[in-house]
Amino acid sequence: MTEGAAGGTTTSSEPIDVLVIGGGIAGLCAAIEAAQAGAAVRLLEAAPYAWRGGNSRHSRNLRLAHEDETPWQPGRYSAAEFAAELRAAAGAASDAALTELLCSESAALASWLGSHGVAFQPTAGGLLPWSRKTAFFLGGGKAMVNSLYAAAAANGVAIDYECTVPSLRPDDGAARTRIDVAARSPAGERRFTAGAVVVASGGYPANRDWLRERWGEAADRFANRGSPYLRGELLRSLLAAGALPVGVPGDCHLVAVDARAPQDDAGIVSRVDGMPWGIVVDGDGRRFHDEGENLGPIRYSHWGQRIARHPGQRAWLLLDADAVNNLPPLLYPPLTAPTIGALAARIGIDADAMQATVDGYNAARRCDGSDDIKAASCPGLLPPRSRHAAPLGRPPFAAIPMQPGVSFTCFGVGVDQSARLLRADGGALPPAFPRVFAAGMIMAPAILGSAYLSGAALTISAVFGRIAGRNAAALARETH
Ligand SMILES: Cc1cc2nc3c(=O)[nH]c(=O)nc-3n(C[C@H](O)[C@H](O)[C@H](O)COP(=O)(O)OP(=O)(O)OC[C@H]3O[C@@H](n4cnc5c(N)ncnc54)[C@H](O)[C@@H]3O)c2cc1C
Repeated sequence: MTEGAAGGTTTSSEPIDVLVIGGGIAGLCAAIEAAQAGAAVRLLEAAPYAWRGGNSRHSRNLRLAHEDETPWQPGRYSAAEFAAELRAAAGAASDAALTELLCSESAALASWLGSHGVAFQPTAGGLLPWSRKTAFFLGGGKAMVNSLYAAAAANGVAIDYECTVPSLRPDDGAARTRIDVAARSPAGERRFTAGAVVVASGGYPANRDWLRERWGEAADRFANRGSPYLRGELLRSLLAAGALPVGVPGDCHLVAVDARAPQDDAGIVSRVDGMPWGIVVDGDGRRFHDEGENLGPIRYSHWGQRIARHPGQRAWLLLDADAVNNLPPLLYPPLTAPTIGALAARIGIDADAMQATVDGYNAARRCDGSDDIKAASCPGLLPPRSRHAAPLGRPPFAAIPMQPGVSFTCFGVGVDQSARLLRADGGALPPAFPRVFAAGMIMAPAILGSAYLSGAALTISAVFGRIAGRNAAALARETH
């Protein structure tokens, strides 16, 4: 690499066609596509090597359309069915053209990822929940990310770690055929010039200052389930420079997580499940929602939103010895005590209040004449308990402290079908910035809005990463 240094600033003289900012799945797919199209590609990643891969390294599955059974997805899942589910989940927030493009392109994704070393978990092993809609990575997101980094390097992509791009002037390339980018690194400022830029820097779940603008001081009690490097400074700078905003500022996908886990980067293992087997109380020892309401796969996110909106943003799942046996494997063992009063003292809740809540729940419980636990309810109780009302009677009693954990944010920038960054005010100017593309969680709200559909976020990131990489390479080549 040829670099000139002056006053702590290093300027790269290496010719760069496509500069990719962010090394999660979106940036890696963009970099590989651009390199395979013949472009000289450089990828700048804010995190050090050990933390590379952003939130993509925490992920497990992605949503793929397929006409025939595959080793990793049974049955059939058409692009039309995928698109209909996205539209139903996201409603009017979803861009129809981007949604159609995503769903049809998703069909080619598994084989493309596979050709770059990404392995999927075969369904034949019986180790996974049966899913014709999503495929699971063998070895999880970390293995997927490592394979894509290896493929990028094998295709000649130059990768710089600990290299953060704090801002970008997307109009920079309008009057000429290059765009300038400045980055921060431990060695000082670094400057690059490229034919096109792909911004793939994710959302802003680690930026509590930004989340506070919407949630107030409650945001200080949100855990960030993913990378602490997802601060959204580049997203903010693009919006300030006139990029089209999409989604709702401050909206985020939240789940209930164990409050004892690290406040950043705990990943999927800190998620708390088992609410239908016990009761959930707040810091005053009171129930505040029907624990039997959601038994389906998105029950986690319902509890994340509820706890985020409840005063104090802290709740405890209370269980008895029978209920504990139904829990999935946990990151930390539940806190236990021989009596409800002793448990209350252990978790810092008023013992009389918590005892009264448990007594009231047990007294109101009715099993509708059968032993079917799903049918058991607590008539007259407030808040209601509609289903799954298991008794809380057999000691020792257990508690798991919970707080909201952010998986991803739902506010970003708009793109067109070639993944080009759109202007908020197309007006007299062309609708898109000339040399800037965006892919991944930074533009996913254009399709998802504030909705959640398992595996869709990752598919958006990979599909639009590929599209951005292809088109950025073509543009850079045109204007060489
Ligand atoms: C615990 C957890 C589990 C998840 N599981 C799933 C799942 O199973 N399926 C699914 O579809 N989705 C899942 N998601 C969401 C999914 O991880 C994201 O949708 C996806 O990773 C987004 O990919 P991306 O490339 O856009 O961003 P990321 O993978 O987050 O990558 C962005 C990269 O940009 C870098 N960066 C940020 N700012 C800058 C800057 N200014 N300069 C340079 N680099 C920068 C970051 O360090 C990071 O490496 C999960 C999220 C979490 C937190």
